[in-house]
Amino acid sequence: MTQLFHIKTFGCQMNKHDSDSVGQILINEGYRQTDSIDDAHIILINTCAVRQKAEEKALTFIGRLSRLKRRKPDLITGVIGCVAQERGINLLKRFPYLDLVLGPRNIYQIDKFVSKVEKERERISSLELVGELTPFPKHNGYLKGRVTSFLKIMEGCDNFCTYCIVPFVRGRETSLPAEKIIDEAKYLVSQGIKEITLIGQNVNSYNVKSKALPTFPGLLSELDSIAGVERLRFTTSHPRDLSDELIDLFGGSKGLCPHIHLPVQSGSNNILKLMNRGYTIDRYIDLINRLRKTRPDISITSDIIVGFPGEMEGDFEDSLSLINEVKFDNIFSFKYSDRPGIKALELPGKIGEEEKQRRLSILQERQRGITLSKNRLVEGSIQEILIEGPAKRGDDYLTGRTLGNKVVNFFSKGNLKGRTVKVKIVKGFQNSLLGELVDG
Ligand code: SAM
Ligand code: SF4
Repeated sequence: MTQLFHIKTFGCQMNKHDSDSVGQILINEGYRQTDSIDDAHIILINTCAVRQKAEEKALTFIGRLSRLKRRKPDLITGVIGCVAQERGINLLKRFPYLDLVLGPRNIYQIDKFVSKVEKERERISSLELVGELTPFPKHNGYLKGRVTSFLKIMEGCDNFCTYCIVPFVRGRETSLPAEKIIDEAKYLVSQGIKEITLIGQNVNSYNVKSKALPTFPGLLSELDSIAGVERLRFTTSHPRDLSDELIDLFGGSKGLCPHIHLPVQSGSNNILKLMNRGYTIDRYIDLINRLRKTRPDISITSDIIVGFPGEMEGDFEDSLSLINEVKFDNIFSFKYSDRPGIKALELPGKIGEEEKQRRLSILQERQRGITLSKNRLVEGSIQEILIEGPAKRGDDYLTGRTLGNKVVNFFSKGNLKGRTVKVKIVKGFQNSLLGELVDG
């Protein structure tokens, strides 16, 4: 009988992509995926350690497995990803029913580890953070029904922002060779994928450390020339490493979508320095101006942390002024959270939880207004939409994204998934746009 596996994924795009890789490897070995945790023979939890809350959520979920394991002693349970890397074998000690603990760079041997647990009932941890990156394991049909896909081009980070655990749990920056990326992009196109988002912790420094070629703008140009790659996106880009060459591509590339996620983290130079970000607000605003000059319709999103140690009221107000000035299309905002091993742990001036929440609420309220007015600004315009499938809004509504990455829902009969159509925007809401099909 075919054994079933279930993967629960917490965290970012990188984790979603890693879960896909693990799922694909298991499918290649003859296992089958299930949405039901109760039916599964293998349960894997892919975890995020970036903020304490994300980690707590994963730990609570792991705790719930004890009941299942008591009912089904053959069940194979594993924790993979960033919390696995951070806590290592302590997880095996804390959760006696756990079989596997695999760091983000060790998930590609999932088939061997599972088979070892099955045969020998050995409890395994594998946590090496070195070695080459493994491309996505191919299998015709796995991506069936999808129109968009991530493609990992690099992993790890050497920046050591003082608030960030990523360099400790994903290791040093490592780039995948360009031939493998191009090969994977062609494979994705052959599977029906129209839009590819290149992912990495810091895509701008692709190949920089190894001095190999191409660097990131060159890689984008090569991918842009592949027939069938209709749309290209990338994330995440570090403001310090955003080159003129990359900015220029927004003006001249065929498939590069006019959207950039450029995390600023704070509007205060004092805080940016304490965060070890390597740029000032003047430099950041200069980048925004150059991007907008090159591509006036570019949409820009960002990340902001409130309540970093030592953040005074004036620093927080600088963040509010920044969002008023730049008018981001949207931001992800977070309360600073202590993480093991990070430099910010030792910094004086920790901010209380209540104050962090107050600042977050003010920032988010301010941004909500900006996002809504930006979404209303596109009312009446005609946008190119890549249709991703049925909308949650209800029957006969389809959903897709604009080139600027805004979600658009519109009424349409028929299965147009994967098609690019023109849609007139009739209403801008907080989180999406409502449109009318102009042509099919
Ligand atoms: N590599 C990206 C960059 O350079 O901005 C982002 C990586 S991180 C996974 C995603 C976001 O989480 C960061 O941009 C930051 O805003 C937030 N973050 C990271 N560490 C945090 C912490 N200790 N507390 C709160 N937010 C944090
Ligand atoms: Fe973390 Fe900074 Fe690296 Fe982004 S650039 S992953 S925030 S250390």
